[in-house]
Amino acid sequence: MLAKSNDRKKHMKRCDIVILNGQAVLPGIGPVRMDLGIRDGKIAAMSEKLDAQDGDEVIDARNLHILPGAVDSHFHVGIYRPHEADARTESASAVSGGVTTILSYFRTGRNYLNKSGPYKEIFPELLALSDGNFWCDYGYHIAPMTASQLDEVDWLVEQGVASFKFYMFYKGLNLSADSTHGKDYTMAENYDLGHLYELMARVAESATARKQRISLSLHCENPELIRVFMERVRKQGLTGLKAYSEARPPLTEGLSIEEATVLANATFCPVNFLHLSSRVAIETAIAVRRRYPERDMILETTLHHLALNYATAGDNHGKVNPPIRSQDDQDALWRALRDGEVDTVVSDHACCMEEMKAGDMWSAMPGFGGTSLLYPVLLSEGVRKRGLSLNRAVELASTNPARKFGLHPRKGAIAIGSDADLALFNLENMQVVKPAGLHSAQPYTPFNGIELAAGPVTTILRGHVVFRNGEVLEAPQGRFIKRPVASQSSGEEFKASASGQRSS
Ligand SMILES: [Zn+2]
Repeated sequence: MLAKSNDRKKHMKRCDIVILNGQAVLPGIGPVRMDLGIRDGKIAAMSEKLDAQDGDEVIDARNLHILPGAVDSHFHVGIYRPHEADARTESASAVSGGVTTILSYFRTGRNYLNKSGPYKEIFPELLALSDGNFWCDYGYHIAPMTASQLDEVDWLVEQGVASFKFYMFYKGLNLSADSTHGKDYTMAENYDLGHLYELMARVAESATARKQRISLSLHCENPELIRVFMERVRKQGLTGLKAYSEARPPLTEGLSIEEATVLANATFCPVNFLHLSSRVAIETAIAVRRRYPERDMILETTLHHLALNYATAGDNHGKVNPPIRSQDDQDALWRALRDGEVDTVVSDHACCMEEMKAGDMWSAMPGFGGTSLLYPVLLSEGVRKRGLSLNRAVELASTNPARKFGLHPRKGAIAIGSDADLALFNLENMQVVKPAGLHSAQPYTPFNGIELAAGPVTTILRGHVVFRNGEVLEAPQGRFIKRPVASQSSGEEFKASASGQRSS
């Protein structure tokens, strides 16, 4: 590596890698036949014709489409397993599907590190556990759970956290006398709409002061209604994914979106409506965005709500919050996505082991992995089956999440100076999904047996080939990306890249 970089100084035009004969899918434009040159981890040349001699390594992309690496902006690294191990296996799964950046949610309380305290202590610990364990680049969205953590919002932004989270369905958990669902879970005193209002005010203040998109993500389901519907469904002795959907019906999503919107409008807080799962949820979110066009709101859905319904997603293993819905809900999400109303598509990846799915529908833990199917779902279910443009698929999985979460134009772009994060797909290739193909620690998948577009032939992270011909390569090269990248000085970037050499 050292010899190569000295050599590079003598021949500044020489590239580390040239990618010849491919179709690059340029966000906002679409596929363009071009050759790409990568130098020092960045895209350094985009040309009609580059020479094989221009690069130390040549990748022939004949018959391949070159997509910007996906930015999977909804992930749960370490929710159920030790953080380091989960980061290793699940970021490997990510790169095997063409995901080159993960933005993962983290909170104090039950699961994750299973403790509470100041983020000034816990966030550095989280970064230390992450360091050297990711195959892709990564960042964190943080959920302030306690009153004192609210005062850490600004400090967290300084650390490179450009987005936060509130869980509408934990509201009132602190009021429960039941210690399995009480404040033991959130480890917080007043996790309610009052807390949400205070959090939104602080996030909005930080966004205004920095003139950057600092935002709050919202898990919209309502716990008071879930309690009532859950009782009804259990009394009737129903089980299965359809029953689970009825126990947490779309109405609860609609109500939560409306509640959160009242507060977002009052505080000017930019918000992200996460994992909209149903016709009611997507239609409500579209309506509130129309009602307040001057507010900054983005709409997210997941690949499992797009690709599965409760008749196709199997048993307990497909349990997730919000639940997998009906075919009609699935159709409504695709329609909104086609109409341009959906901004981002994500995996909401949470590696949940077999033993956690044991028992019945009510005792099984929610969530499952799917990050490596993010591009495959969009390419086959979207582009192939429903006429979505390639450009739109790339926007949903890469450019939009990069823009909305402070990573653009370093990520989510194929442009001179952007990170060389690329995924090379043969769009003719198909796969029948099997757990082994996901490169995850999770031994099952609710997508089992579904035919989708195949994953990438090659994934490149900042100029390193990290996945090729079905294998994850090299040592983990992923780095923590401070967001918003626009506010980070180039000096800091240089420092970050110099320290990154240490592990390689
Ligand atoms: Zn989630």
